[in-house]
Amino acid sequence: MKILLLQLKRIGDLILTTPAIAALRDKFPGARITLVVARECADLLPAIASVDRTLVTRRKLRDVTMFFAVAREKFDYCIDFTRNDRSALLAFLSGAQKRVVSHRIKIQSKSRARVYNEFARHQMREMHTLDYHLALLEPLGHVYGVSNKVLAMALSDLLLASDAKRLTWIEAGAVMIAVDTLVHNFLHRTGILHDMRADHPYGPRCYAPGGCATIIERLAASIDARRFNPGFPANFPRFVQHAIWRFCAEAGLNRCNGRRIDDRAPCKQTDCPVFENCACVALKPA
Ligand code: SF4
Repeated sequence: MKILLLQLKRIGDLILTTPAIAALRDKFPGARITLVVARECADLLPAIASVDRTLVTRRKLRDVTMFFAVAREKFDYCIDFTRNDRSALLAFLSGAQKRVVSHRIKIQSKSRARVYNEFARHQMREMHTLDYHLALLEPLGHVYGVSNKVLAMALSDLLLASDAKRLTWIEAGAVMIAVDTLVHNFLHRTGILHDMRADHPYGPRCYAPGGCATIIERLAASIDARRFNPGFPANFPRFVQHAIWRFCAEAGLNRCNGRRIDDRAPCKQTDCPVFENCACVALKPA
């Protein structure tokens, strides 16, 4: 599935769109997501990890190349967060089967409205901008809201990408951890939870003292993340959590993923690089 997201407004609008982007990635891990932003927002792009490709409009003649790139791609969905002439042109060029925008466009410009075929009925003044952006995803189905996990991931990415002079922002982003079932199940299957006397079911106890989050913090304290990238903070729990997530997730290395493993029996994936040192514990004993 190919998804085109159009956010051509200012940097504040792009920041308020990041939870919607993260929610999309969470629901469609295999989708190829392209994000188009205005040139004023280009500095923020490294922080938006949930997209596969970014394009920048510069309001110059060389935008023509970018317009051709959009027209060539043949998208399935196009979500327009912007509602202006340029975003309407891009939505048209996308050739997407579903081109989604707020129904407000019908009041703003009847000619522009003809470009789209799905209209979200929510009004911006009825809700927070962040929720309004999420409401635009409804025609894609399955995306009902943004979880705390997704919000934490989006906020952490933004904080980590902030100006290097804002040390406290970067430190705050570095310690934000989101424990999902992939991360919890990895710690269970490998025997780490048992060895650390921290056995617990997935849920609130993952964040309680001694739970998954504490274990990841302890692991991070014993690793100098600068060995992997000199620009990283030395103590980087978020990096450790993300590495575990990538090892497991379908959108990452897809190794220790519940869809690949029979959870009722000890793991038999002998080709897994950590098989020799893994306890291979069954998640739900038969
Ligand atoms: S050996 Fe099996 S249980 Fe252990 S990390 Fe690899 S895939 Fe997961």
